[in-house]
Amino acid sequence: MPGHAQTLRPFLSRTARLYPDRELVARRGDSTVRYTYATYADRVDRLASALRAAGIDRGDRVGTLCWNHDRHAEAYFAVPNLGAQLHTVNPLLPAEDIQRVVSAAGDRLLIVDASLAETLVDAYDPDAFESVDRVVVVGADAPNLPFASVSIEDFLAGHDAAIDYPDLAGDDPAGLCYSSGTTGDPKGVAYSQRMLWSHTMAIQTPMGLDIADADVVMPVVPMFHINAWGLPYAATAAGAKHVYPGPSPDPEDLVTLVEEEGVTLTAGVPTVWLGVLDYLQDHDADLSSLERIVVGGAAPPTRLIRAYDEYGVEVVHGWGMTETAPVGAVSHLKPDLRDADAETRVAKQAKQGLILPGLEFRVVDDDGDTVPHDGESMGELLVRGPWVTTEYYDGADPDAFEGSWLRTGDVVTIDADGYVELVDRAADVINSGGEWISSQALETAIMDHDAVREAAVVGIPHERWGERPVAYLVADATDPEALRDDLCARLSDRYPDWWVPDRFEFLGSLPKTATGKFDKVGLRGRSDETLSG
Ligand code: ADP
Repeated sequence: MPGHAQTLRPFLSRTARLYPDRELVARRGDSTVRYTYATYADRVDRLASALRAAGIDRGDRVGTLCWNHDRHAEAYFAVPNLGAQLHTVNPLLPAEDIQRVVSAAGDRLLIVDASLAETLVDAYDPDAFESVDRVVVVGADAPNLPFASVSIEDFLAGHDAAIDYPDLAGDDPAGLCYSSGTTGDPKGVAYSQRMLWSHTMAIQTPMGLDIADADVVMPVVPMFHINAWGLPYAATAAGAKHVYPGPSPDPEDLVTLVEEEGVTLTAGVPTVWLGVLDYLQDHDADLSSLERIVVGGAAPPTRLIRAYDEYGVEVVHGWGMTETAPVGAVSHLKPDLRDADAETRVAKQAKQGLILPGLEFRVVDDDGDTVPHDGESMGELLVRGPWVTTEYYDGADPDAFEGSWLRTGDVVTIDADGYVELVDRAADVINSGGEWISSQALETAIMDHDAVREAAVVGIPHERWGERPVAYLVADATDPEALRDDLCARLSDRYPDWWVPDRFEFLGSLPKTATGKFDKVGLRGRSDETLSG
């Protein structure tokens, strides 16, 4: 077959030669690591040598329990370059899920942050962790581990950067990630070299996230969640500077890194950027380098898009899933919309966007018929393409696939301009008296109120209507009654009266899943009452 294989290794080897002095900067707790691409490539090769000496070979799996930092970025290439699979374990999953995913993956070696070692100890179970021969610890002060463990420095000692990598094919494994289990048990998705290669190429394009060598890219989205949306690979391929914020960065850390490192593009879930907005209200900050914030994983309220616009920062809204590696759509403005009035632009940016070049999509109703592009007819979004999985790891949930098509479980509309708008996840739609209410639309509208920090709307069983919406919110309100009346009035203006939640409950914080999304399963479980009336 003409053409060489699509693999990850050339992204780094090329950049290390063409941009040897471009930097990678990482915070690891109190210390900052700063080195060049030449060093990055060297450290990747040394890690690969050490992994090979530890017996890691083609087809093996290496797990990580790490925040966003240099050592994690090194594993991102070292493991797949060997033809092994990098299994990024989400340390925020409950202990039993960590056991389940490590056991299902059969991870042979784990690379673990010292600060997360306790999580590993808590999750330890001799049967579930039977496959793990060794744990490599990044950082100091790890507790005693119930494994043969070694510090990363000792693990690397004596190994140099000379390594013969295997000749890999596009079908060789590269990654493995489990979804965060927002609607059920986490499901595993294996990524081949070709999937991650094609996703990298797609998100670099202007229709994707438009990443180039001049960019300074700061992934806030965790590297344990769908490869930090592919940014470490795309930044490397482009020759951009990497900035990694380390363990649980707060808004001040993020703003400081933007200022000190000249970040041009950053990315994370909406709640992160709402927190930064709160911080910006009380602090002076120089965001002049920052051009774009990629927001995804959940829908951003339009006030987020407007507020950053005032700082001269464009909010680039993306949609994706673990199953789509993850970016599948980006709310890129078509040429005729760029000069439209602010309201029209914000309304388009708030949609989940245009399906990326290289992917195919269908929106089908319950009868399997394609819905018209009218912005109103709803259906389930199906996608397929080189970076969309066609199966779950271990063959779970085969009904999520129709041949090569992935059924996303997302109910959407598609408008005349081709912009997909997510109405709701099928699991979250509220069925009131046989009619659908979009929990997502209500949340976005509620969070547009200045006094509301977070809002999640869930369906609670109702004697007469089957289900009725109940809103849980975190708000800065001295008079919650008045805020509730205001919200009811706003929602009735925008939606039918019967969409207005039956109850508004004010909480100190909303429960979140392991990827920072509102934990609606948990919220539904808060109330065992059935509504009436
Ligand atoms: P989990 O299923 O555990 O939440 P994922 O991170 O893979 O794990 O979630 C993918 C889902 O997240 C999508 O199917 C969609 O419902 C939701 N999602 C992703 N991006 C957006 C977005 N921009 N707006 C609204 N929902 C989104």
